[in-house]
Amino acid sequence: MIPYTITDRKIKNMLTPFGYFDLIDAMAEPNCPVCRLLERDASKLLTTILYEYVTEPQTHATFRQSLGLCNVHGWQMAEQGNVMSIAVLYSAVIDEALKQSKNRSHNGQGLRGLFNRVPRSELSNALTPDTPCPVCDKLDENQSRYMSVFAEKMTDDRFMTAFKASDGLCLNHFRQVVALNSTPEFVITQRAKWQHLYDEMQEFIRKYDPTKADSAIGIEGDSWLRAIRQMVGEKGVFGKRSDNE
Ligand SMILES: [Zn+2]
Ligand SMILES: [Zn+2]
Repeated sequence: MIPYTITDRKIKNMLTPFGYFDLIDAMAEPNCPVCRLLERDASKLLTTILYEYVTEPQTHATFRQSLGLCNVHGWQMAEQGNVMSIAVLYSAVIDEALKQSKNRSHNGQGLRGLFNRVPRSELSNALTPDTPCPVCDKLDENQSRYMSVFAEKMTDDRFMTAFKASDGLCLNHFRQVVALNSTPEFVITQRAKWQHLYDEMQEFIRKYDPTKADSAIGIEGDSWLRAIRQMVGEKGVFGKRSDNE
């Protein structure tokens, strides 16, 4: 039986998919709401690993399997500041690298190996992680969930009102959503964001021309930066696995 003290929000949380309210909140903030949530999730996850799971055997096993984090998340972890936990965790990673590299044949294919995608020497294979960066792995799962909420809720009035007032999705996340589902209203809304940004850039270009400078540059001044952000998403949100593949 549901206790009387339960709040409206808690009841709604039971009925709505996980991530719905997070996305509504993120759409009130600047930039792609999915990129924003993934940045938040990565930061939370790194904090949780360092402060709560650093002594768990399972965490050590996962870090040994993946030989630590990818480039992006490794540096994000370094910025967290919990240096003792990082030293404990990365002791396991370096220990694994020492184990895996011990007494392995390093006879490769010489220069021919440079042109093969898959490294062939036993040593090289042993140092190739079996599993992806654990933070990337979890973010992939969260991203799929956010994409599903968009696909499912694009006919929901509250969700669409928030989407219309937002900066829209980055190109990559928009493409992923419309691969699952789309409505004319959803596509028109996103295209209006691009059109607005395009118009702002034309205004910026016009004002930037020294021969036609007739007024000060206004809010269109950073339209070029917002255009990059719209097309590539937030820094570090995509392509995190590239160094493990
Ligand atoms: Zn995005
Ligand atoms: Zn990663």
